Amino acid sequence: MSKSVSVIGAGSIGVSSALHLQQRGWDVTLIDRKAPGRETSYGNAGIINSGSMVALNSPAMHKSLASLLKNDKPQLRYNLKHILKNLPWALQFLQASKTRQSDKTSEALYSLTSVSLQEHKAFMQRVGNSHRLTEAGWLRVYRKEPGFDDNSYDAKQLRRFNIPGQKFNADELRELEPSLKPIYSSGYLLSGAASVNNPGALITEYAEQFVADGGKIINAEINAIESRGDRVICRSSSGVLESDQLLVAAGPWSGDVLALLNYSVLLGVERGYHAHYHLLNGASLGRSVFDVQSGFIMSPMEMGLRVTTGVDLDHRDAKPNHAQLNQVLPSIKEAIDLGEQTSDPIWQGNRPTLPDSKPAIGKVPDHSNVWVAFGHQHIGLMTGPITGKLIAEQISGEKNEIDITPFDPSRYIRSTVRRKPVWSSLKG
Ligand SMILES: Cc1cc2nc3c(=O)[nH]c(=O)nc-3n(C[C@H](O)[C@H](O)[C@H](O)COP(=O)(O)OP(=O)(O)OC[C@H]3O[C@@H](n4cnc5c(N)ncnc54)[C@H](O)[C@@H]3O)c2cc1C
Repeated sequence: MSKSVSVIGAGSIGVSSALHLQQRGWDVTLIDRKAPGRETSYGNAGIINSGSMVALNSPAMHKSLASLLKNDKPQLRYNLKHILKNLPWALQFLQASKTRQSDKTSEALYSLTSVSLQEHKAFMQRVGNSHRLTEAGWLRVYRKEPGFDDNSYDAKQLRRFNIPGQKFNADELRELEPSLKPIYSSGYLLSGAASVNNPGALITEYAEQFVADGGKIINAEINAIESRGDRVICRSSSGVLESDQLLVAAGPWSGDVLALLNYSVLLGVERGYHAHYHLLNGASLGRSVFDVQSGFIMSPMEMGLRVTTGVDLDHRDAKPNHAQLNQVLPSIKEAIDLGEQTSDPIWQGNRPTLPDSKPAIGKVPDHSNVWVAFGHQHIGLMTGPITGKLIAEQISGEKNEIDITPFDPSRYIRSTVRRKPVWSSLKG
Protein backbone atom coordinates (compact mmCIF):
# COMPACT_ATOMS: atom_id res chain seq x y z
CA MET A 1 0.00 0.00 0.00
CA SER A 2 1.36 3.45 -0.87
CA LYS A 3 2.12 5.85 1.96
CA SER A 4 -0.35 8.61 2.61
CA VAL A 5 0.03 12.38 2.92
CA SER A 6 -2.56 15.03 3.81
CA VAL A 7 -2.06 18.52 2.39
CA ILE A 8 -3.87 21.41 4.14
CA GLY A 9 -4.51 24.29 1.72
CA ALA A 10 -5.47 24.10 -1.95
CA GLY A 11 -3.89 27.32 -3.19
CA SER A 12 -1.02 27.57 -5.65
CA ILE A 13 1.39 25.98 -3.15
CA GLY A 14 -0.83 23.16 -1.83
CA VAL A 15 -2.20 22.08 -5.23
CA SER A 16 1.27 22.13 -6.79
CA SER A 17 2.66 20.08 -3.89
CA ALA A 18 -0.21 17.59 -4.20
CA LEU A 19 0.53 17.10 -7.91
CA HIS A 20 4.25 16.52 -7.31
CA LEU A 21 3.59 14.13 -4.40
CA GLN A 22 1.09 12.23 -6.53
CA GLN A 23 3.69 11.89 -9.31
CA ARG A 24 5.98 10.24 -6.74
CA GLY A 25 3.39 7.59 -5.87
CA TRP A 26 1.98 9.07 -2.66
CA ASP A 27 -1.68 8.57 -1.72
CA VAL A 28 -2.53 12.31 -1.43
CA THR A 29 -5.56 14.00 0.14
CA LEU A 30 -5.90 17.75 -0.33
CA ILE A 31 -8.05 19.58 2.22
CA ASP A 32 -9.46 23.09 1.92
CA ARG A 33 -12.45 24.84 3.43
CA LYS A 34 -13.00 26.52 0.06
CA ALA A 35 -12.77 25.29 -3.52
CA PRO A 36 -9.16 25.10 -4.85
CA GLY A 37 -7.54 28.41 -5.83
CA ARG A 38 -10.19 30.67 -4.28
CA GLU A 39 -8.09 32.60 -1.76
CA THR A 40 -4.79 34.44 -2.26
CA SER A 41 -4.04 32.40 -5.36
CA TYR A 42 -7.23 33.69 -6.98
CA GLY A 43 -6.85 37.44 -7.04
CA ASN A 44 -3.22 38.14 -7.86
CA ALA A 45 -1.77 39.83 -10.94
CA GLY A 46 -0.88 36.51 -12.62
CA ILE A 47 2.72 37.44 -13.35
CA ILE A 48 5.47 34.82 -13.74
CA ASN A 49 8.79 36.61 -13.82
CA SER A 50 12.28 35.28 -13.16
CA GLY A 51 13.28 38.84 -12.19
CA SER A 52 10.88 39.02 -9.21
CA MET A 53 13.60 38.01 -6.75
CA VAL A 54 13.88 41.41 -5.02
CA ALA A 55 11.54 41.52 -2.03
CA LEU A 56 9.64 44.59 -0.85
CA ASN A 57 12.00 44.90 2.12
CA SER A 58 15.05 45.69 0.02
CA PRO A 59 17.48 48.64 0.34
CA ALA A 60 15.09 50.58 -1.94
CA MET A 61 12.44 50.49 0.81
CA HIS A 62 15.05 51.34 3.39
CA LYS A 63 15.88 54.48 1.38
CA SER A 64 12.28 55.60 0.93
CA LEU A 65 11.32 54.92 4.55
CA ALA A 66 11.00 58.59 5.47
CA SER A 67 8.48 59.27 2.71
CA LEU A 68 6.59 56.02 3.41
CA LEU A 69 6.15 57.06 7.05
CA LYS A 70 3.67 59.71 5.87
CA ASN A 71 1.33 56.79 5.19
CA ASP A 72 -0.24 58.37 2.11
CA LYS A 73 1.39 56.37 -0.71
CA PRO A 74 -0.48 53.93 -2.97
CA GLN A 75 2.60 51.68 -2.89
CA LEU A 76 2.45 51.09 0.89
CA ARG A 77 0.01 51.90 3.68
CA TYR A 78 0.06 50.69 7.25
CA ASN A 79 -2.02 50.63 10.40
CA LEU A 80 0.32 51.91 13.12
CA LYS A 81 -1.54 50.08 15.92
CA HIS A 82 -1.16 46.81 14.04
CA ILE A 83 2.55 47.45 13.45
CA LEU A 84 3.13 48.23 17.13
CA LYS A 85 1.31 45.03 18.15
CA ASN A 86 3.52 43.06 15.76
CA LEU A 87 6.78 44.81 16.44
CA PRO A 88 9.01 41.68 16.31
CA TRP A 89 7.79 40.97 12.77
CA ALA A 90 8.05 44.63 11.71
CA LEU A 91 11.54 45.15 13.12
CA GLN A 92 12.90 41.97 11.57
CA PHE A 93 11.23 42.87 8.28
CA LEU A 94 13.04 46.20 8.35
CA GLN A 95 16.29 44.61 9.44
CA ALA A 96 16.16 42.30 6.41
CA SER A 97 16.09 45.29 4.05
CA LYS A 98 19.80 45.97 4.60
CA THR A 99 21.95 45.40 1.53
CA ARG A 100 23.85 42.30 2.67
CA GLN A 101 20.79 40.40 3.80
CA SER A 102 18.79 41.58 0.79
CA ASP A 103 21.49 40.26 -1.55
CA LYS A 104 21.17 36.85 0.10
CA THR A 105 17.38 36.96 -0.07
CA SER A 106 17.48 37.81 -3.78
CA GLU A 107 19.84 34.93 -4.42
CA ALA A 108 17.59 32.46 -2.58
CA LEU A 109 14.42 33.73 -4.23
CA TYR A 110 16.08 33.67 -7.65
CA SER A 111 16.66 29.92 -7.20
CA LEU A 112 12.83 29.68 -7.25
CA THR A 113 11.83 32.43 -9.70
CA SER A 114 14.42 31.38 -12.31
CA VAL A 115 12.65 28.06 -12.89
CA SER A 116 9.05 29.16 -12.22
CA LEU A 117 8.04 29.52 -15.86
CA GLN A 118 9.45 26.16 -16.92
CA GLU A 119 7.78 24.44 -13.95
CA HIS A 120 4.39 26.03 -14.76
CA LYS A 121 4.79 25.02 -18.39
CA ALA A 122 5.37 21.41 -17.33
CA PHE A 123 2.09 21.50 -15.34
CA MET A 124 0.24 23.22 -18.17
CA GLN A 125 1.37 20.51 -20.55
CA ARG A 126 0.11 17.81 -18.17
CA VAL A 127 -3.19 19.64 -17.67
CA GLY A 128 -3.68 20.99 -21.20
CA ASN A 129 -4.23 24.64 -20.24
CA SER A 130 -1.27 26.36 -21.90
CA HIS A 131 -3.75 28.75 -23.54
CA ARG A 132 -3.82 30.64 -20.22
CA LEU A 133 -0.19 31.73 -20.64
CA THR A 134 1.02 34.78 -22.56
CA GLU A 135 4.77 35.17 -22.99
CA ALA A 136 4.99 38.87 -23.82
CA GLY A 137 7.00 40.17 -20.88
CA TRP A 138 6.03 42.48 -18.02
CA LEU A 139 6.12 46.22 -18.68
CA ARG A 140 7.05 48.94 -16.19
CA VAL A 141 5.98 52.42 -17.30
CA TYR A 142 7.07 55.84 -16.02
CA ARG A 143 5.25 59.19 -16.25
CA LYS A 144 8.20 61.34 -15.18
CA GLU A 145 11.91 61.08 -15.80
CA PRO A 146 14.11 59.62 -14.53
CA GLY A 147 12.30 56.41 -15.40
CA PHE A 148 14.03 53.10 -14.97
CA ASP A 149 17.05 53.85 -12.79
CA ASP A 150 20.14 51.86 -13.79
CA ASN A 151 21.70 52.60 -10.40
CA SER A 152 18.79 51.34 -8.32
CA TYR A 153 19.13 48.25 -6.15
CA ASP A 154 16.57 46.51 -8.32
CA ALA A 155 18.46 47.26 -11.56
CA LYS A 156 21.68 45.98 -10.02
CA GLN A 157 19.99 42.71 -9.06
CA LEU A 158 18.46 42.36 -12.54
CA ARG A 159 21.98 42.68 -13.98
CA ARG A 160 23.44 40.36 -11.34
CA PHE A 161 21.12 37.56 -12.47
CA ASN A 162 21.18 38.45 -16.19
CA ILE A 163 17.44 39.08 -16.35
CA PRO A 164 16.63 40.20 -19.91
CA GLY A 165 15.16 43.69 -20.21
CA GLN A 166 14.76 46.51 -22.68
CA LYS A 167 14.20 50.26 -22.33
CA PHE A 168 11.46 51.97 -24.37
CA ASN A 169 11.05 55.66 -25.12
CA ALA A 170 7.61 57.30 -25.40
CA ASP A 171 7.21 56.54 -29.13
CA GLU A 172 8.34 52.96 -28.80
CA LEU A 173 5.95 52.50 -25.87
CA ARG A 174 3.06 53.66 -28.01
CA GLU A 175 3.92 51.03 -30.59
CA LEU A 176 4.26 48.31 -27.96
CA GLU A 177 1.02 49.15 -26.10
CA PRO A 178 -1.14 51.32 -28.38
CA SER A 179 -4.02 51.46 -25.87
CA LEU A 180 -1.94 53.24 -23.24
CA LYS A 181 -2.62 56.99 -23.32
CA PRO A 182 0.43 59.07 -24.34
CA ILE A 183 1.20 60.11 -20.75
CA TYR A 184 4.20 57.88 -20.28
CA SER A 185 7.68 59.13 -21.06
CA SER A 186 9.49 55.78 -20.87
CA GLY A 187 9.20 52.11 -20.05
CA TYR A 188 11.20 49.02 -19.22
CA LEU A 189 10.13 45.61 -20.51
CA LEU A 190 11.15 42.53 -18.54
CA SER A 191 11.06 40.58 -21.74
CA GLY A 192 11.39 37.07 -20.30
CA ALA A 193 8.32 37.40 -18.09
CA ALA A 194 4.94 35.81 -18.77
CA SER A 195 1.44 36.06 -17.30
CA VAL A 196 -1.72 34.00 -16.95
CA ASN A 197 -5.19 35.24 -17.82
CA ASN A 198 -7.00 33.82 -14.76
CA PRO A 199 -4.85 32.64 -11.83
CA GLY A 200 -7.82 31.15 -9.93
CA ALA A 201 -8.89 29.07 -12.95
CA LEU A 202 -5.29 27.96 -13.51
CA ILE A 203 -5.08 26.52 -9.98
CA THR A 204 -8.59 25.02 -10.25
CA GLU A 205 -7.55 23.22 -13.45
CA TYR A 206 -4.35 21.94 -11.80
CA ALA A 207 -6.54 20.61 -8.95
CA GLU A 208 -8.95 18.96 -11.42
CA GLN A 209 -5.98 17.14 -12.98
CA PHE A 210 -4.93 15.97 -9.51
CA VAL A 211 -8.41 14.46 -9.02
CA ALA A 212 -8.49 12.98 -12.55
CA ASP A 213 -5.18 11.24 -11.72
CA GLY A 214 -6.66 9.66 -8.57
CA GLY A 215 -6.14 12.38 -5.92
CA LYS A 216 -8.77 13.16 -3.31
CA ILE A 217 -10.01 16.63 -2.28
CA ILE A 218 -11.94 17.13 0.94
CA ASN A 219 -13.89 20.33 1.40
CA ALA A 220 -13.50 20.99 5.14
CA GLU A 221 -11.86 23.26 7.68
CA ILE A 222 -9.24 21.58 9.82
CA ASN A 223 -9.69 22.61 13.44
CA ALA A 224 -7.61 20.06 15.35
CA ILE A 225 -4.41 18.14 14.62
CA GLU A 226 -2.84 15.41 16.67
CA SER A 227 0.42 13.57 16.20
CA ARG A 228 0.13 9.97 17.38
CA GLY A 229 3.18 7.76 16.96
CA ASP A 230 4.14 7.93 13.30
CA ARG A 231 0.63 9.00 12.20
CA VAL A 232 -0.94 12.46 11.97
CA ILE A 233 -4.64 12.91 12.62
CA CYS A 234 -6.53 15.93 11.29
CA ARG A 235 -10.03 16.70 12.49
CA SER A 236 -12.68 18.82 10.86
CA SER A 237 -16.43 19.20 11.17
CA SER A 238 -16.77 16.60 8.42
CA GLY A 239 -14.66 13.90 10.00
CA VAL A 240 -11.21 12.57 10.82
CA LEU A 241 -8.34 12.10 8.40
CA GLU A 242 -5.33 9.99 9.31
CA SER A 243 -2.11 9.90 7.28
CA ASP A 244 1.60 9.09 7.48
CA GLN A 245 2.68 12.65 6.66
CA LEU A 246 1.13 16.12 6.86
CA LEU A 247 1.96 19.16 4.75
CA VAL A 248 0.70 22.58 5.88
CA ALA A 249 0.36 24.87 2.85
CA ALA A 250 -2.31 27.18 4.21
CA GLY A 251 -0.79 30.46 2.95
CA PRO A 252 -1.65 33.34 5.30
CA TRP A 253 -3.48 30.94 7.66
CA SER A 254 -0.46 28.65 8.11
CA GLY A 255 0.27 30.14 11.55
CA ASP A 256 -3.28 29.32 12.72
CA VAL A 257 -2.99 25.75 11.45
CA LEU A 258 0.43 25.24 13.06
CA ALA A 259 -0.91 26.61 16.35
CA LEU A 260 -3.06 23.43 16.43
CA LEU A 261 0.25 21.57 16.87
CA ASN A 262 1.54 24.07 19.44
CA TYR A 263 3.79 26.08 17.17
CA SER A 264 4.01 29.85 16.97
CA VAL A 265 5.00 31.42 13.66
CA LEU A 266 6.29 34.92 12.97
CA LEU A 267 4.10 35.32 9.89
CA GLY A 268 2.80 38.68 8.70
CA VAL A 269 0.56 39.55 5.79
CA GLU A 270 0.90 42.19 3.10
CA ARG A 271 -2.70 42.82 2.16
CA GLY A 272 -3.58 43.77 -1.41
CA TYR A 273 -6.70 44.45 -3.44
CA HIS A 274 -8.02 44.11 -6.95
CA ALA A 275 -10.94 45.45 -8.94
CA HIS A 276 -12.05 44.44 -12.44
CA TYR A 277 -12.98 47.01 -15.07
CA HIS A 278 -14.43 47.01 -18.56
CA LEU A 279 -12.35 48.84 -21.17
CA LEU A 280 -13.85 51.30 -23.65
CA ASN A 281 -13.29 51.95 -27.37
CA GLY A 282 -11.68 48.56 -28.01
CA ALA A 283 -8.77 49.29 -25.67
CA SER A 284 -6.69 46.27 -24.65
CA LEU A 285 -3.27 45.45 -23.22
CA GLY A 286 -0.85 42.85 -24.57
CA ARG A 287 0.75 42.19 -21.17
CA SER A 288 0.64 43.27 -17.52
CA VAL A 289 1.65 46.90 -17.08
CA PHE A 290 3.07 48.33 -13.84
CA ASP A 291 2.67 52.10 -13.44
CA VAL A 292 5.61 52.38 -11.06
CA GLN A 293 5.23 56.00 -9.94
CA SER A 294 1.45 55.80 -9.47
CA GLY A 295 1.64 52.43 -7.70
CA PHE A 296 -0.75 50.05 -9.49
CA ILE A 297 -0.61 47.12 -11.90
CA MET A 298 -3.04 46.59 -14.79
CA SER A 299 -3.36 42.98 -15.94
CA PRO A 300 -5.49 41.82 -18.86
CA MET A 301 -7.64 38.96 -17.53
CA GLU A 302 -10.48 36.81 -18.83
CA MET A 303 -12.85 38.79 -16.63
CA GLY A 304 -11.70 42.27 -17.72
CA LEU A 305 -8.85 44.57 -16.75
CA ARG A 306 -7.63 43.58 -13.29
CA VAL A 307 -6.08 46.44 -11.33
CA THR A 308 -4.05 45.32 -8.32
CA THR A 309 -2.76 47.57 -5.57
CA GLY A 310 0.39 47.91 -3.48
CA VAL A 311 0.75 46.77 0.11
CA ASP A 312 -1.58 47.43 3.05
CA LEU A 313 0.08 46.38 6.33
CA ASP A 314 -2.76 45.53 8.66
CA HIS A 315 -4.23 42.51 10.41
CA ARG A 316 -5.30 39.81 7.97
CA ASP A 317 -8.88 39.88 9.25
CA ALA A 318 -9.27 43.66 9.73
CA LYS A 319 -11.92 45.45 7.67
CA PRO A 320 -10.76 45.91 4.05
CA ASN A 321 -9.35 49.36 3.39
CA HIS A 322 -9.98 50.53 -0.18
CA ALA A 323 -8.01 53.77 0.23
CA GLN A 324 -5.22 52.70 -2.14
CA LEU A 325 -7.65 51.54 -4.82
CA ASN A 326 -9.62 54.80 -4.54
CA GLN A 327 -6.39 56.78 -4.64
CA VAL A 328 -5.16 55.21 -7.91
CA LEU A 329 -8.51 55.31 -9.74
CA PRO A 330 -7.92 58.78 -11.31
CA SER A 331 -4.45 57.65 -12.45
CA ILE A 332 -5.89 54.50 -14.09
CA LYS A 333 -8.38 56.71 -15.96
CA GLU A 334 -5.46 58.81 -17.19
CA ALA A 335 -3.64 55.69 -18.38
CA ILE A 336 -6.28 53.85 -20.41
CA ASP A 337 -9.90 54.14 -21.66
CA LEU A 338 -11.43 52.82 -18.48
CA GLY A 339 -15.09 51.82 -18.39
CA GLU A 340 -17.25 50.77 -15.44
CA GLN A 341 -16.15 48.34 -12.78
CA THR A 342 -17.49 44.86 -13.65
CA SER A 343 -20.04 43.16 -11.39
CA ASP A 344 -17.20 41.35 -9.56
CA PRO A 345 -16.71 42.68 -6.04
CA ILE A 346 -13.48 44.35 -4.92
CA TRP A 347 -11.21 41.55 -3.72
CA GLN A 348 -8.81 41.53 -0.78
CA GLY A 349 -5.93 39.07 -0.54
CA ASN A 350 -3.20 38.51 2.03
CA ARG A 351 0.34 37.92 0.80
CA PRO A 352 1.85 35.63 3.45
CA THR A 353 5.22 37.11 4.45
CA LEU A 354 7.91 35.95 6.86
CA PRO A 355 10.25 38.73 8.09
CA ASP A 356 13.07 37.88 5.66
CA SER A 357 10.59 37.53 2.73
CA LYS A 358 11.73 33.97 2.02
CA PRO A 359 9.21 31.13 2.27
CA ALA A 360 9.43 28.29 4.78
CA ILE A 361 9.86 24.99 2.92
CA GLY A 362 10.69 21.89 4.94
CA LYS A 363 10.02 20.04 8.17
CA VAL A 364 8.83 21.69 11.40
CA PRO A 365 11.28 21.54 14.32
CA ASP A 366 9.62 18.97 16.63
CA HIS A 367 7.71 16.54 14.41
CA SER A 368 9.30 14.04 12.05
CA ASN A 369 6.27 13.83 9.74
CA VAL A 370 4.93 17.42 9.62
CA TRP A 371 6.08 19.62 6.75
CA VAL A 372 5.37 23.19 5.70
CA ALA A 373 5.40 25.27 2.51
CA PHE A 374 4.18 28.83 2.96
CA GLY A 375 5.30 32.47 3.13
CA HIS A 376 5.64 33.20 -0.60
CA GLN A 377 4.71 36.89 -0.26
CA HIS A 378 4.39 38.53 -3.73
CA ILE A 379 5.56 35.51 -5.76
CA GLY A 380 3.47 32.53 -4.64
CA LEU A 381 1.55 32.08 -7.86
CA MET A 382 4.72 31.81 -9.91
CA THR A 383 6.73 29.76 -7.40
CA GLY A 384 3.96 27.23 -6.58
CA PRO A 385 5.13 24.44 -8.91
CA ILE A 386 8.83 24.65 -7.96
CA THR A 387 7.93 24.82 -4.26
CA GLY A 388 5.69 21.77 -4.75
CA LYS A 389 8.56 19.92 -6.38
CA LEU A 390 11.03 20.80 -3.59
CA ILE A 391 8.72 19.77 -0.75
CA ALA A 392 7.66 16.58 -2.56
CA GLU A 393 11.33 15.69 -3.03
CA GLN A 394 11.94 16.23 0.68
CA ILE A 395 8.94 14.25 1.87
CA SER A 396 9.97 11.44 -0.49
CA GLY A 397 13.52 11.44 0.87
CA GLU A 398 15.00 12.56 -2.47
CA LYS A 399 17.89 14.96 -2.90
CA ASN A 400 16.70 18.49 -3.72
CA GLU A 401 17.83 19.92 -7.04
CA ILE A 402 17.96 23.38 -5.41
CA ASP A 403 19.65 24.34 -2.12
CA ILE A 404 16.75 24.66 0.31
CA THR A 405 18.72 25.69 3.40
CA PRO A 406 17.69 29.38 3.01
CA PHE A 407 14.06 28.24 3.41
CA ASP A 408 14.60 26.36 6.69
CA PRO A 409 11.27 26.59 8.61
CA SER A 410 12.98 26.78 12.01
CA ARG A 411 13.94 30.41 11.20
CA TYR A 412 10.50 31.53 12.35
CA ILE A 413 8.60 28.49 13.67
CA ARG A 414 8.93 27.78 17.40
CA SER A 415 7.31 25.17 19.61
CA THR A 416 5.18 26.71 22.36
CA VAL A 417 5.41 23.58 24.47
CA ARG A 418 7.50 24.36 27.54
CA ARG A 419 10.30 21.83 27.85
CA LYS A 420 11.67 20.74 31.21
CA PRO A 421 15.02 22.41 31.81
CA VAL A 422 17.98 20.09 31.23
CA TRP A 423 19.00 20.21 34.91
CA SER A 424 15.59 18.88 36.02
CA SER A 425 15.91 15.79 33.83
CA LEU A 426 19.47 15.28 35.07
CA LYS A 427 18.22 15.39 38.66
CA GLY A 428 15.97 12.44 37.59
C1 LIG B 1 -2.73 41.90 -4.95
C2 LIG B 1 -1.81 40.71 -5.10
C3 LIG B 1 -1.10 40.53 -6.27
C4 LIG B 1 -0.23 39.45 -6.42
N1 LIG B 1 0.39 39.23 -7.63
C5 LIG B 1 1.16 38.11 -7.81
C6 LIG B 1 1.73 37.82 -9.09
O1 LIG B 1 1.53 38.55 -10.05
N2 LIG B 1 2.49 36.70 -9.21
C7 LIG B 1 2.72 35.85 -8.15
O2 LIG B 1 3.44 34.87 -8.31
N3 LIG B 1 2.15 36.09 -6.94
C8 LIG B 1 1.38 37.19 -6.75
N4 LIG B 1 0.81 37.43 -5.53
C9 LIG B 1 1.12 36.53 -4.40
C10 LIG B 1 0.37 35.20 -4.48
O3 LIG B 1 -0.99 35.41 -4.78
C11 LIG B 1 0.50 34.44 -3.15
O4 LIG B 1 1.86 34.38 -2.75
C12 LIG B 1 0.00 33.00 -3.31
O5 LIG B 1 -1.29 32.99 -3.84
C13 LIG B 1 0.01 32.25 -1.98
O6 LIG B 1 -0.48 30.95 -2.25
P1 LIG B 1 -0.77 29.92 -1.08
O7 LIG B 1 -1.12 28.64 -1.72
O8 LIG B 1 0.36 29.95 -0.12
O9 LIG B 1 -2.01 30.56 -0.28
P2 LIG B 1 -3.58 30.56 -0.63
O10 LIG B 1 -3.81 30.67 -2.07
O11 LIG B 1 -4.22 31.56 0.26
O12 LIG B 1 -4.04 29.12 -0.19
C14 LIG B 1 -4.16 28.74 1.17
C15 LIG B 1 -5.41 27.87 1.31
O13 LIG B 1 -5.47 27.33 2.64
C16 LIG B 1 -6.83 27.18 2.98
N5 LIG B 1 -6.93 27.05 4.44
C17 LIG B 1 -6.44 27.90 5.38
N6 LIG B 1 -6.71 27.43 6.62
C18 LIG B 1 -7.37 26.26 6.46
C19 LIG B 1 -7.92 25.30 7.37
N7 LIG B 1 -7.82 25.45 8.71
N8 LIG B 1 -8.56 24.20 6.87
C20 LIG B 1 -8.68 24.04 5.54
N9 LIG B 1 -8.18 24.93 4.62
C21 LIG B 1 -7.53 26.01 5.09
C22 LIG B 1 -7.46 28.46 2.43
O14 LIG B 1 -8.86 28.31 2.26
C23 LIG B 1 -6.69 28.67 1.12
O15 LIG B 1 -7.40 28.15 0.01
C24 LIG B 1 -0.06 38.52 -5.36
C25 LIG B 1 -0.81 38.69 -4.19
C26 LIG B 1 -1.69 39.76 -4.05
C27 LIG B 1 -2.49 39.90 -2.79
